[in-house]
Amino acid sequence: MSALYPWQETDWQRLQELRKRPPQGLLFKGGKGIGKLDLALNFAYSLLCERTAGNGQACNACPACHWLSQGSHPDFRLLQPDAQVMEESESGKKPSKQITVEQVRGLADFLGMSAHQGGMRVVVICPAESMNSNAANALLKSLEEPPRNMLFILVTHKPQQLLPTILSRCVTFALTLPDSQSATAWLRGQGIQLPEQALAAAGYSPLLALQGDAQVGSDEHAKLLSALRQPASLDVFAIAEMLQKTEQVLVVQWLQQWSYDLSAMKLTGRVRYHTGDAEPIKRLVANLDAMELMRLQKLLQTAKRESQHTLNPKLFFESILLAYRQLTTH
Ligand SMILES: [Zn+2]
Repeated sequence: MSALYPWQETDWQRLQELRKRPPQGLLFKGGKGIGKLDLALNFAYSLLCERTAGNGQACNACPACHWLSQGSHPDFRLLQPDAQVMEESESGKKPSKQITVEQVRGLADFLGMSAHQGGMRVVVICPAESMNSNAANALLKSLEEPPRNMLFILVTHKPQQLLPTILSRCVTFALTLPDSQSATAWLRGQGIQLPEQALAAAGYSPLLALQGDAQVGSDEHAKLLSALRQPASLDVFAIAEMLQKTEQVLVVQWLQQWSYDLSAMKLTGRVRYHTGDAEPIKRLVANLDAMELMRLQKLLQTAKRESQHTLNPKLFFESILLAYRQLTTH
């Protein structure tokens, strides 16, 4: 099990209060990439551990902790979409991105038993919004008549996609946003060279910053940014060709962050993602009006949807870059 992240100390203290009288449903909500699942697992494990440490964390040494680390604790279940746990199913089919009704029904035996150790039983569901409607309805039955000493922890960054009937049966636990100081220090400890920039580029999600760092610092990203800074001399075809092997969704995300910063500079005089580029961005937006920048954002939103199923990445990038050059030069 991974340890608590440094920005989760306060959340952990708040959970210790909940621990005294755990609710039956708990909704962990908060932004992407801030360690929600890790916190939920830490909490679940600590409820099952036989001799928790002073701060309430699981001891990692007792038989219960041993079972948990083996994935075989009889009083614990973790439901995730197959796609998050395996590349390909045994039958060669693409694993599902949803939590299916079969998975939820699979809990029936578990819910029907009494706790092996006579204590708590915990089910963690992550991400909860990936339950399809059948799965959600099946879960609702259990939430309505929960067995004794049963805790469901639903982890989500999109609570608005959950059934209101499910939400109403859960106590909401909103995770604190990572403060940039501890997030930066943590990233540095993970070997990230420019932690401030990586964090900003990942929208202040430390875990995404860690994953995305390789790509954000990549050659393609750097070349794209340098082209975007000088739209008048932007060689649309060369850049599109250079990008064609990079994942489209990712490139559109880079463009969206850039476009976001153009608007932010225009409207507030500040940037969010490209903190080292504030000056060139300021010069760039000086002659642009806010409406044009809005149009660019809209265009990229559409591009993001299309990026999932475009057949010709080079053409796709060309059309976006052409539009960018047109909007930003007169
Ligand atoms: Zn333990």
